[in-house]
Amino acid sequence: MNFIPIIRPDINDDDIKQVTDVLKSGNLVHGVKCLQLEADIANLVGVDHCSAVANGTASLILALRVLGVGIGDEVIVPALSFVATANAVEVVGATPIFVDIDLDTFNINVDKIEEKITPNTKAIMPVHEFGLACEIERIVEIGLKHGIPVVEDAACALGASYNDKMVGSFGALASFSLHPRKAITSGEGGLVVTNNAAYNKHVNQFRNHGIEVENGAINFVEAGYNFRLTDFQAALVVSQLSRFKRHIEVKREIAQKYMDGIKSNLITLPSDTRKAKHTWQTYHLLLNDEVNRDEIVLKLKERNIGSGLGAQCIPEMLYYKKKYKNDSIKLYPNALKAFNQGLAIPMYGGLNESEIQYIIDNLNNI
Ligand SMILES: *Cc1c(COP(=O)(O)O)cnc(C)c1O
Repeated sequence: MNFIPIIRPDINDDDIKQVTDVLKSGNLVHGVKCLQLEADIANLVGVDHCSAVANGTASLILALRVLGVGIGDEVIVPALSFVATANAVEVVGATPIFVDIDLDTFNINVDKIEEKITPNTKAIMPVHEFGLACEIERIVEIGLKHGIPVVEDAACALGASYNDKMVGSFGALASFSLHPRKAITSGEGGLVVTNNAAYNKHVNQFRNHGIEVENGAINFVEAGYNFRLTDFQAALVVSQLSRFKRHIEVKREIAQKYMDGIKSNLITLPSDTRKAKHTWQTYHLLLNDEVNRDEIVLKLKERNIGSGLGAQCIPEMLYYKKKYKNDSIKLYPNALKAFNQGLAIPMYGGLNESEIQYIIDNLNNI
């Protein structure tokens, strides 16, 4: 068996032609393909506005900045996520306030959010981890009750829904990533979506050096970033989008095969919830405590199967550990368990039957 990576981007010759067409056009930065991408994503997510930006972390930073989040403010985030969720809070000068997760969904435990709200709480930023929507309706309700906006970190969850409503359409703003590890990719890239025209205008201004264009005149009205996306990157995503829905269906079929085939009392399988449909950005198993996850990763690698940890228990990462000295065993036991015992295995449309069976057989032999 040839090596099976955790993920393999789905890029075909037509996608590549779309990119080279832009390269030949000479218009490389934000242009017609970015505008097309923004329109397509707004349509897919069911929101009024979308801004294409440099990467998913930039889109989180922009969302927090337009909400005015800064020094002295607190932002509630899950303890388990990719570290960028908390980094975005830190780099705007605010403090991430961590909340433990549920182990059956790997998403933020909504019952523990309200007790973390203080007069300094400026935003709640849940994550739709691994492509499964969190309990976003309840989180939006909590936000409304306390007058706190919700930013969805939907980096992993383009195409996911909750109660048949698309992820990204619930919060004041939402962020998606277009990194190759995610559902669809431009290499590096991100998206900010919102139904609020003022937020959208401000995101676009911050994205572009703080420039406001009025009656054709260019004014630098604030200190902004350069977080633009190139047009050839946008072309790559626009081209893939035509296959996107089918792509998720194929991954759901593979998830079903894993579900039917993996039978080991050392492994707990992930699943959908009643209200949220999984998009399987990551297929993330939980290994029993008696199994050493890192040894399993090495063993699988010897057998040419890529695997690895799914997400970080962020309070345990060196910077956060030193700064906040949180006792994760006490405060975030579930995030810590997912961090130590979680195992992401290959999941992408291009996996063939014999590869899927080979992965199942090897997992059943752990
Ligand atoms: C990948 C990811 C990000 C960061 O996205 P980039 O495009 O890599 O900057 C942020 N949050 C979560 C939950 C992610 O998985």
